[in-house]
Amino acid sequence: MSVIQEIRAKLDLVQYISQSGVALRKAGRNFKACCPFHNEKTPSFYVFPDSQTWHCFGACSTGGDIFSYVQRRENVDFAEALRILAEKAGVQLQARTPEQQEHEARLEKLRSLLAEAARFYHQRLLNAPDAAEARAYVARRGLQEATLTQFQIGYAPDSWNAILDRLKQIGYTEQEMLEAGLLTRHEESERLYDRFRDRLMIPICDERGRVIGFGARALKPEAQPKYLNSPQTPLFDKSATLFGLHLARRSIRESETAVIVEGYMDAIQAHQHGFTNVVAQMGTALTQAQLKTLSQYARRLILALDADEAGARATLRGLEAVRQAASVARVFVDPSGALRESSRLNLELQVITPPQGKDPDDLIREDPQAWRDLLANAQSVADYVINAAVASLPANATLAEREQVARELLPLLMATENNLQQQANVQQLAYKLRLGSGKALLEWAAQHQRLKRLDRPAPAEESRASAEPGAPSAPIVVLTHGEALQEYCLAALLQYPSLLADLQRIFRQLVREDAELESLLQPLCSADFTRPDLRAIFETFVRARAQYQEEWLSYLEANLPADLLPTLERLLLARLEAYEQRLRQASQTDPRALSKDVASLREAASLHSDEARHRAALPHHALSLRIVRLRRECTELGYLIQEADQAHLLTYLERNKLFLRAIRILQEAAHISYAKQSVSL
Ligand SMILES: [Zn+2]
Repeated sequence: MSVIQEIRAKLDLVQYISQSGVALRKAGRNFKACCPFHNEKTPSFYVFPDSQTWHCFGACSTGGDIFSYVQRRENVDFAEALRILAEKAGVQLQARTPEQQEHEARLEKLRSLLAEAARFYHQRLLNAPDAAEARAYVARRGLQEATLTQFQIGYAPDSWNAILDRLKQIGYTEQEMLEAGLLTRHEESERLYDRFRDRLMIPICDERGRVIGFGARALKPEAQPKYLNSPQTPLFDKSATLFGLHLARRSIRESETAVIVEGYMDAIQAHQHGFTNVVAQMGTALTQAQLKTLSQYARRLILALDADEAGARATLRGLEAVRQAASVARVFVDPSGALRESSRLNLELQVITPPQGKDPDDLIREDPQAWRDLLANAQSVADYVINAAVASLPANATLAEREQVARELLPLLMATENNLQQQANVQQLAYKLRLGSGKALLEWAAQHQRLKRLDRPAPAEESRASAEPGAPSAPIVVLTHGEALQEYCLAALLQYPSLLADLQRIFRQLVREDAELESLLQPLCSADFTRPDLRAIFETFVRARAQYQEEWLSYLEANLPADLLPTLERLLLARLEAYEQRLRQASQTDPRALSKDVASLREAASLHSDEARHRAALPHHALSLRIVRLRRECTELGYLIQEADQAHLLTYLERNKLFLRAIRILQEAAHISYAKQSVSL
């Protein structure tokens, strides 16, 4: 049980409000009082014990649960309200321990140090006389100035203490520089000196674009190694990082495709030529961590690798990692809202091999169209593996040799979860190796699989065994329709924060039509969220976007109670499509659902780019969210009408009319935005 649920279970709203000094009187099954938040003579503040909610039908025209009551009453933010209520309920909050805070502060220091170093190197490349050779090098590689700026490419001078002196000057210690991977310690003298000298400096960033390390290319042909990376540091883990992801993330999400190249220069060149869904894997075989990261954004991965044999071997190693990752059990909420386990990492894998002797870097620079064609004709992994194996066999290979190849490839070809695909793969293999119809191979493969299944631990164990330490636990959530609406709206805003302004504009336009309804039609606000965790995140998100001192996501993380950070992380990484499917199902059973034409147009919309799609879909869902809230409040008002005396009945009925009018306006707007979203293709 979350602390929020625990608090709700332990505290009664009616009791809490009366203890806070509000004189509640019974009104039917509910309670009423003069509103503690505005001045009035006749009570319009109601508390509903069944739903544990309150509402002021007077000047405030707002309501909520125990958390929003405390926030309003004490004039505090959610985090503080949570603290107050946790204390009252005797619930232990998860605090950021002093150690955690210290650790965070240390990482933050290293980040700012690395950002400073990147700025220093970049300025040197642009301006310093001793960087002339480096400038000539980037010119030869065809890198434009905008690209140098975008990737903040720099130059480390040929000096033992350039970065050391620079960073010392502005207050960083040698220990910190060492920890950030910028210095090396001399083995005998123990003297510290610059790790990167006379090299082109390529900053490596995390997903949020913060510098965590460097890739450094030698400029003199004799210098070794050609590429020198930052060592492993508290910030930099090469095997979990993909170069360029912060710049490629959006485009990968929109195209649902990530192209993975080998080197920094390949990725930089691709971006310069407008191929913005490209990331680089930095000289290791693909790791599970990298694949998991990409699977949050992409459905299709295209591995673009060297045509040489070493490159092909790296590919196969990469595919082995993919295969392993593919058998990792995951937990997810399926479209019907039910909890499903053991889904597979559902990534379509393809391979391209640039023509002999060419890096993607060369190819893109010399002939962007050829690169485009290559991507369009990407081969499935199975085809690639089969073709490569067949090509490596001598023309006069014996039957035994050919069968041996088949046996080696079978496990890889059977790794896909799709049975038909498996059969097709095996049949193709049999055909290419001239092994008959493939029936014998299929039988062999089926037997092989049965044996493998016997080997395998039970699913529960498997998922535990394969979960990486420190990885966020998979979300286990079963959502009601209302919650799905709330989560979708919030997740869409977190993933595309610029949509907030557009959305609020749509709400403001509604009010312009009918000023009397201002409080009911105000822009999306925390009261629209009934789940306290979602409400708190929304509230803090709005504040984060309204300030400019700090990056909004850092602000959000710093200002949310620690208990809510897992929810934040889940929403930031949530697949919005899953919510959409859930919501679509509900709207199909809704008698007000639109015609089939619109529904099919909407299907077509799923082909549209992600951001554009959510820009169109979010208003519809946010308006629906408000409708749900007003309907709920209308029900509450209904209780009052049943029990009202003659004096108040008229006021309540008037009020009820306003609600109905607001709901009608919202419904119209929701339909318009629904239709717009369908035809905006
Ligand atoms: Zn009030």
